[in-house]
Amino acid sequence: MADELHRRLAEIVGPKGLVVDGDTSRYLIDWRDRIHGDARAIVLPRSTEQVAAIVSLAASENVPIVPQGGNTSMSYGSVPHSGDSGIVVNLSRMNAIRELDREGSVVVAEAGTVLTSLHDAAEGIGRQFPLHLGAEGTAQIGGLISSNAGGTGALRYGPMRDLVFGLEVVMPDGKVLSDLSALRKDNRGYNLNHFFIGAEGTLGIVTAAALKLHPALHADADAFVSVERPEMALELLARLQDRFDTAVQAFELLSGSQIEIVGNMLPDIRCPLETVPDWAVVIHLGDPDPEARLRDRLESLLEEELTAGRVLDGVVARSSTQAGEFWKLRHSVTEANLKAGMGVTLDISVRVSAVPAFLATASEALRREFPDALPVVVSHLGDGNVHFIAMFLFDRDGPERHPMETADAVQVLINDVAIEHGGSFSAEHGIGRKLVGELKRLSPPERYDMMLRIKSLFDPKGIMNPEVLFPVDRR
Ligand SMILES: Cc1cc2nc3c(=O)[nH]c(=O)nc-3n(C[C@H](O)[C@H](O)[C@H](O)COP(=O)(O)OP(=O)(O)OC[C@H]3O[C@@H](n4cnc5c(N)ncnc54)[C@H](O)[C@@H]3O)c2cc1C
Repeated sequence: MADELHRRLAEIVGPKGLVVDGDTSRYLIDWRDRIHGDARAIVLPRSTEQVAAIVSLAASENVPIVPQGGNTSMSYGSVPHSGDSGIVVNLSRMNAIRELDREGSVVVAEAGTVLTSLHDAAEGIGRQFPLHLGAEGTAQIGGLISSNAGGTGALRYGPMRDLVFGLEVVMPDGKVLSDLSALRKDNRGYNLNHFFIGAEGTLGIVTAAALKLHPALHADADAFVSVERPEMALELLARLQDRFDTAVQAFELLSGSQIEIVGNMLPDIRCPLETVPDWAVVIHLGDPDPEARLRDRLESLLEEELTAGRVLDGVVARSSTQAGEFWKLRHSVTEANLKAGMGVTLDISVRVSAVPAFLATASEALRREFPDALPVVVSHLGDGNVHFIAMFLFDRDGPERHPMETADAVQVLINDVAIEHGGSFSAEHGIGRKLVGELKRLSPPERYDMMLRIKSLFDPKGIMNPEVLFPVDRR
C-alpha cells in the first residue's frame, strides 16, 4: 500500500514534490523537539490543483492528512503523532504572491508564503502587513491563518482573523472553495472563511488568501520602561491610548524573571535598564504621518509618569538600532527559555483589566503546588493575553526533563485559574494535539457538541488532521 500510495502521489506532485529519503525531521518533529511523528508520505505540492488531487486520493483511500506550514506551532498541531498518521502535506512550495493591490489595500498570497516575505511585498507598494511574531521568518500564511495567530501587533490590528478578506481552501473531499475577491462588504449568507481561520487544518487545506494591508508607518517611537506592578502597566497603557490612540502599536509586559533568563542564556542581549526590574514593558508607537513627533511626545508622557511615581525607570530609543535591541530582547524569550529549562507555557487570555488579578492568583497557586517552578511572564498585555510559564530551570532540576505528568498538572492548575477569572486557556496558540483534553474538560458541553457537529459536517471521514482539537475516538 505504501509503495502504491507513493507512486500515485508522485504522479500528482512529480518526483521533487515527494520527500522519500534524506532528513525528514523538519516535517516530523515539532520545533521544540517534543513530538516525534511518523508519516506514510510527505508531499510538497506546487499548486491548488495538486493539493486537490492529493486530498481526493487521501479521501478515496481513507488516509489521514496533516497540513503543514512552517512547523512553528506551539501546540503540536503541525506534526503527525501516532504511528500511522498518513500524509504530511507541506505547503512551502506554494509561496507565490498572486496579486498586490495598493489602492484596494489587498495582497493575495499563497499559503506557503513566509510572513517576512509578505512584509517585504507589502513594503514594496508602500503598505504594511501588520502581523508580527518571533517566528515570522519561518511561519507561513496558511499556518498563521489556521492558528489565527496573534503576536505583538494584535493590540492595534487584531489577530489574523481581522486581516483576512477571503480564502481559497481545498475541502476534505478535494473540492475547492474560492473566495479571493476581497470584498469589504459581502452579506451573502454565512461567511464560510471564518470556519477555516483557527481550524488548525481540521476542516480543509488553505491554499491561498486575500489579506488586508494597512498604511505604512513613517514615524515611530519605542521605549523600555519599568513599573512596580502589572496594575501600573495597565494604567500606563490606558494613558498611552488616551493620548496616542491608534498609534499604540504594541505593548508587551515582561516579568523580571523572564528578563533575567534572556540575559543569562543569551549574553549578547542585555536589559536596557541599569538593573533588572520586577516588571517591564516594551512599547512601540507608530504613525503614517512622518511629522507625528512620536519620540518627543512619548518622552514627555513618560517624564510625567516618572514624576508621578507611576513609572520607575525607562529608556526611549534614540535610534532604530536601539529600538531593535529592545525588541530583540522581547522576541528572544522563546529561544532563551528553551535553553534555560523545561517551561510549561500557558496561553491564557482574560479581560484586559483582569490580568493583574489573574497573575497574582496564578503565581500564588504555582508557588503553593510546585515550589520548584519559577513563575515567568510574557504578556501581550493590551490583548489580555498572558503567556504564564512555569519554568523548571535545568540548574535547579538537573538536565532531565520533568515528567509529562507534571506538565499536565501545571496546565490544569493554571487553566483552572484562567477559567475562574472568566478567561480562555487558548488565546493564540490553538489547541493542536496539546490541549485536546483541556478543550473537552473546560468547554461548555453545548459548545463542544456544536464543534463536533461542524467537524463531522465538513469532514465526515475524519481525515483532516485527526488528533487535533478532538480525540480520534470521538465517534
Ligand atoms: C519563536 C516563536 C514565537 C512565536 N510567537 C507567537 C506569537 O507571538 N503569537 C502567536 O500567535 N503565535 C506565535 N508562535 C506560534 C506560531 O508561529 C504560530 O502558531 C504560526 O501561526 C504557525 O505558522 P506555521 O506556518 O509555522 O504553521 P504550522 O506550525 O506548520 O501549523 C500550524 C497549524 O496550522 C495547520 N496548517 C498549517 N498550514 C495549513 C494550511 N495551509 N491549511 C490548513 N491548515 C494548515 C497545521 O496543521 C497546524 O495545525 C510563535 C512560535 C515561535 C517558534
